[in-house]
Amino acid sequence: MDKKLGFGFMRLPLLEKGNAKSIDKEHVNKMVDMFIERGFTYFDTAYMYHEGISELVLKETLVQRYPREAYTIADKMPTMKLKEQDDVDRIFNEQLEKCGVEYFDYYLLHCLTKENYANAEKFNTFEYCMAKKKEGKIKCLGFSFHDTPELLDEILTKYPEMEFVQLQINYIDWEDGNVQARRCYETCLKHGKKIIVMEPVKGGLLANVPEEAKNLMKEYDEKASVPSWAIRYAASLDNVFMVLSGMSNLEQLDDNTSYMQEFKKINDDEKEIIQKVVDIILNNLKVPCTGCEYCVTTCPMNIPIPRYFELYNKQSQFGDSSNSKNRYQEMKDCGKAKDCIECGACERECPQHIEIRKHIKEVSELFD
Ligand code: SF4
Ligand code: SF4
Repeated sequence: MDKKLGFGFMRLPLLEKGNAKSIDKEHVNKMVDMFIERGFTYFDTAYMYHEGISELVLKETLVQRYPREAYTIADKMPTMKLKEQDDVDRIFNEQLEKCGVEYFDYYLLHCLTKENYANAEKFNTFEYCMAKKKEGKIKCLGFSFHDTPELLDEILTKYPEMEFVQLQINYIDWEDGNVQARRCYETCLKHGKKIIVMEPVKGGLLANVPEEAKNLMKEYDEKASVPSWAIRYAASLDNVFMVLSGMSNLEQLDDNTSYMQEFKKINDDEKEIIQKVVDIILNNLKVPCTGCEYCVTTCPMNIPIPRYFELYNKQSQFGDSSNSKNRYQEMKDCGKAKDCIECGACERECPQHIEIRKHIKEVSELFD
């Protein structure tokens, strides 16, 4: 049985900050070596990662340096990029070539949302992948998913041939109203599907929990790193056979592999601590906005109110590591928080009775 930690080739170390193509391949070689030496085998890439060169780097750092039986590779059909029927076959063959392999151990329809699912259906992508499986070019077929449990149920009912689903699961999204991780997970169980977990550390956010939460974790186990709680949490769920981590340096890889080599499930005491950590993070929520968007169309200044509240909450919960300020400043073609004329139209629409004007002012003080 494979060990339950997969090496995601999506946040590899860079030689030049901000240049996703400037991958430090020597560093990646060392990471691959340590990963394999410690008995791990699962590597995850995608057509779009690192602006299209992740697959090539996988070939150079793994495929050309190790025998094929030493590792398994997961790759993904970019459902959002398909424009015409021929794209499906063209991209699949391109991927085999870029990775330098004859077959994929795991293959996924990438990022199924309502829109991407419709696109995948339009170009018969499920049928294409099933045919590739019959040919032996795909060993195990599934999809990654980012939408509602209802849509997931619909897809799994229509395509029982899918063998696994990749879901975003972590302890903070478990009961989150948007991600609905628990309900998606339960839908997979209902259909008897195996699960791969992505974003167990929520893109790194759960590596930087508030001080109070960090102290609780350290009091229980001084040696365990903060991310180890998040990864072990995901790996402890039934039917989860793989947890992906987009590791960015040797230090992270060293830490992750150390506790996943002889993986121990989260015990009841640890579960209690995680629940407390969740409460602490949620208590740092500045605005209880549910993202319903009822307010958005009413705003004469075209201010994306729920989006700004989301960034404000992230800043408060996870500090600068949330990158909220940059993301705020990068948002174009919309009103800024400082443009609010305090007309109050939004507040009349808000089902949560949020004092939007007051909080928009706070957003402005923080980010403008
Ligand atoms: S109060 Fe501000 S945010 Fe609300 S609708 Fe008016 S301009 Fe937009
Ligand atoms: S109406 Fe209220 S809850 Fe809904 S998005 Fe706007 S601020 Fe958030």
